[in-house]
Amino acid sequence: MRRLLLVNALIFAVLAAAVTLVYYGYSYASSLASRDREQGQAMHEIAEEKVLNIEALILREDADVFAKELSLEAYLDKLPELARKAHIRSVFVLDEHRKVLLDGSWSRAATVKEGVAFRDWFEKTVLPELPLADPSFPANTRDHVHRVWAGPAPWGGKHYLFSFMRKVQGDRTYYVVIEEDLVHLLDSVFRQYFPDVEKAKYVYQVTDANGKVWYGPEFLRDTDVLSVSVPFSETVDQWFARVSEKDLTVREQLQRKRMIESLVIGGAITVILVGFVFILLAIRRERRANELKSEFISNVSHELKTPLSIITMFGEMLANGRTKGPEQSTEYAEIIWRESVRLGRLIDNVLDFAKIERGKGVYDFAEADIADVVERAVDLVQRRLATASMTIDVDIEPELPHVKLDANAFTLAVMNLIDNAIKYASDGKKVELRLARATKAEERIELTVRDFGPGIDPEEQQQIFERFYRARAVRLKPIRGSGIGLALVRHIARAHGGDVEVASVPGQGSTFRLWLPI
Ligand code: ADP
Repeated sequence: MRRLLLVNALIFAVLAAAVTLVYYGYSYASSLASRDREQGQAMHEIAEEKVLNIEALILREDADVFAKELSLEAYLDKLPELARKAHIRSVFVLDEHRKVLLDGSWSRAATVKEGVAFRDWFEKTVLPELPLADPSFPANTRDHVHRVWAGPAPWGGKHYLFSFMRKVQGDRTYYVVIEEDLVHLLDSVFRQYFPDVEKAKYVYQVTDANGKVWYGPEFLRDTDVLSVSVPFSETVDQWFARVSEKDLTVREQLQRKRMIESLVIGGAITVILVGFVFILLAIRRERRANELKSEFISNVSHELKTPLSIITMFGEMLANGRTKGPEQSTEYAEIIWRESVRLGRLIDNVLDFAKIERGKGVYDFAEADIADVVERAVDLVQRRLATASMTIDVDIEPELPHVKLDANAFTLAVMNLIDNAIKYASDGKKVELRLARATKAEERIELTVRDFGPGIDPEEQQQIFERFYRARAVRLKPIRGSGIGLALVRHIARAHGGDVEVASVPGQGSTFRLWLPI
C-alpha cells in the first residue's frame, strides 16, 4: 500500500517535472535570445554604419592623392599639394621597376633625416612584400594592406596601413603607395565617429581579432555583455568596430532569471531521471515479488495438502478399524496428531505473516523472562527433534535481565530457527542453542542457533531473510517450505529493536544470531 503510494507520488513528480521542464525550457530559450536578437540587430546596423562612414572618409582622401588623370611629371609636381591630407603620413611614387623615384617621396616626418630613414626602411622591408608586381592586381585600382611589419624599432613591430595603386597613363606605368596615419586615425577619426562613453547609449571600441582594444574604453568581454563586432574591410582589416550595450541591468535581470531557470530545469531533469530509476526499480521489485508470491502459493498449497492427505489416510484407517491392534492405533493417532500440529504451525506462520504484511497492532509487548520463553520454545520442538534423531544442546546464561517482548512472537521466532535446523541440517545430528548477554554497540541479549548441516551459499545469506525466498539448493529437494519463516524471524527481531543475521560456511553448518537490546 505504502509502496503504491510512493510510486504514484513519483509518477506525479515526474509529470510535474516534465511540465516544468517544457515551460521553463521554452521561456529559457525564448526570452533572452529574442531580446538579444532584436537589440543585436540594432547594434549591428549602427556598427556597420560607423565602419562604412570611416572607410568612406579614408577612401575619399586616398582618391584625391591617387589623382587618376595625371601624367607622371605632372603628378610629381603636384604631389606635395595632393599629399597634404590629415590622415596621410607618407606617399611614395615608384617607377615601373618599383623603385622610389627621386622626387617621389613625401613625408610628414618631423625632420628630413627621419623622412629619409623611413623611406629606406620602407624600400627595404615593406616594398618587397606589397603585392604590386602581382599580375592579377588591376591597374588604376586602389588596394591596401594592414598588418604589423617585423624589424627593429623605431619602424618595425608596429601596425601600418598602406594603400597603393598601379597607375597606367598611356604607355607609362608608375606606382603610388600611401602610408595612412594610424595615429591620426585612432586619435581623431575614430573619436569623431564614436561618441564618448558618458554621452552615448552604447560603448564603442575598435578591437582586433584577439580582443585587444585599439580605441575606446576597456569594457566587458562578449561573454558578459551583449555586443556586436563589424570588421573593417577597405582599410584597417582585422580590426573591428565593436558596439556593446552599456546599461547592463536589463540584461543582468534577464541573466539572473535565466540562471534561476537553468536551476529549475536542472532540478526537473534530475527529478525525471531519479523518478524513472525509482519507477524502474519498483517495477522490478514488484515483478520479483509477484514471482515469489506465486511460488509461495504453490509451496503453501503443497504444504497444506501433504499433511492433510496423511491425516485423511490414517484417519480413514482408524475409522474403518483397519489396525492390527491398539499399538498400531496409537501409532496412527500419533501420526495424525503430529501432522495436525505441523499444519497448525504452518497456518500460524501464514496468518502471522499476513498480519505483519498488513501492518499495525501485530505485537503485544510485556516485561518477560527471556530464558523462560526460550526454554518453552525448546520444549515445543523436542519431539520433532527426536523424530529427526537430533539432539539439542541448550546453554542459557543464568540471571539474564528481564526485557520487553512479545512472548508468542518470540517463541515463534525461536521455533522457526530450530525448525529450519531440523529441516535443512538433520545430517548434522545436533543443534546448539545459546542465550547470553553480549556487548556490541550496546548491551544486548543474543540467541544463537547453530547447526552442522550443509550451510548456506554466501551469495544467498542476505536473500534468505526476504519473504518467499528459498535457497537454490533446497528448491530442488523435496524439503517442504514456504519461504516466510526467516522473513518472520527478521520482522520479529526488528520489532523488538534487534535483528537477525547468519554466519555460515557451506558444508560446515550455519549459525543464526538473533539479538535484542537490553
Ligand atoms: P522455508 O524454510 O519455508 O523455505 P525460511 O524463510 O524459513 O523458509 O528459510 C528460507 C531459506 O533459507 C530456506 O528455504 C533454506 O534454503 C534456507 N535455510 C534456512 N535455514 C537454514 C539452515 N539452518 N541451513 C541451511 N539452509 C537454511
